[in-house]
Amino acid sequence: MKKIALFPGSFDPFTKGHEDIVLRGLNLFDEVVIGIGNNANKKRYFPVEMIKELIESTFLDTDRVKVITYDDLTARIAREVGAKFLLRGLRNTTDFEYENGISQVNRFVYEEIETVFLITSPHLAPISSSIIRDLHRYGQNVDNFLPYNLPKPTIA
Ligand code: ADP
Repeated sequence: MKKIALFPGSFDPFTKGHEDIVLRGLNLFDEVVIGIGNNANKKRYFPVEMIKELIESTFLDTDRVKVITYDDLTARIAREVGAKFLLRGLRNTTDFEYENGISQVNRFVYEEIETVFLITSPHLAPISSSIIRDLHRYGQNVDNFLPYNLPKPTIA
């Protein structure tokens, strides 16, 4: 049976830190499904469809990475895509506190789910989506932190 992991997140935007977790996840699992959580009640900075396409373009050379968007409980989506594993990255103790709670709740929703944590690669630890959003908001080029180039804004 195929070992499938769901890598859930907001990915607003998807960064080189996230890419690293996916690539290392491919050493552990047959397939990694990147699940972009798109809560209808939460406003995103980057449009979800744009990020989905950019992630797909990042992993064009493998068919072991899939990208989906969802607005539901993560553990339910894992069951739906046949994933018995959740993949998450840990950068620091703040991440750990948050992940600890969330992984317990996920098991409450889907008993068989196992969360696998990968410690961030040190050179990628400072990268966070929220810092990238702040830089971008004020016109700073952020391509160095992303595994793709953001489309240039079209001037109307
Ligand atoms: P969420 O809103 O669910 O926290 P994110 O898109 O911020 O989603 O992050 C998704 C996952 O990627 C989380 O497990 C987060 O800890 C991890 N992550 C984020 N940035 C990095 C990084 N630079 N290195 C390793 N893991 C990271």
